Amino acid sequence: MSTQPREYELDELYRDLILDHYRQPRNHAPLAHPTCASEGENPLCGDQVAVQIELADGTLADIGFSGRGCSISQASTSMMTECVKGKPLAEVRELIDQFKAMMLQDAEPTPQLGDLESLQGVRKFPVRVKCATLAWNVLERLLQANAQGGTA
Ligand code: ZN
Repeated sequence: MSTQPREYELDELYRDLILDHYRQPRNHAPLAHPTCASEGENPLCGDQVAVQIELADGTLADIGFSGRGCSISQASTSMMTECVKGKPLAEVRELIDQFKAMMLQDAEPTPQLGDLESLQGVRKFPVRVKCATLAWNVLERLLQANAQGGTA
């Protein structure tokens, strides 16, 4: 029996999901016709993400990202893009609220969050919560800026 300590004490299945998204990030490409773009960084950990979105008819028609940093930050961004892509903006805002409630307020993950529930174990590590929420804050700012008719 191995008693090696784990980096995050995450469930095996969850850890595999996170590493899968980290190694093969989804929607990891620039968009042809982005409506707007913004980026964020988490200096505590050295994470950076840049997010592009394309809005059309009240939906988040497309989303792409680039970035570098720890597995939590990049996997969370990849999972986020899969979760919100093609959804009506009202629904995207709900998903942002649900994810932040899970990470910051110990709320149970909703079924809509899908694979993102794998990140709930991270909330035991306050420094890592910033890694997981980084891209979500960027997306939230983009939507807010757009709702006000400005650019982020
Ligand atoms: Zn990080």
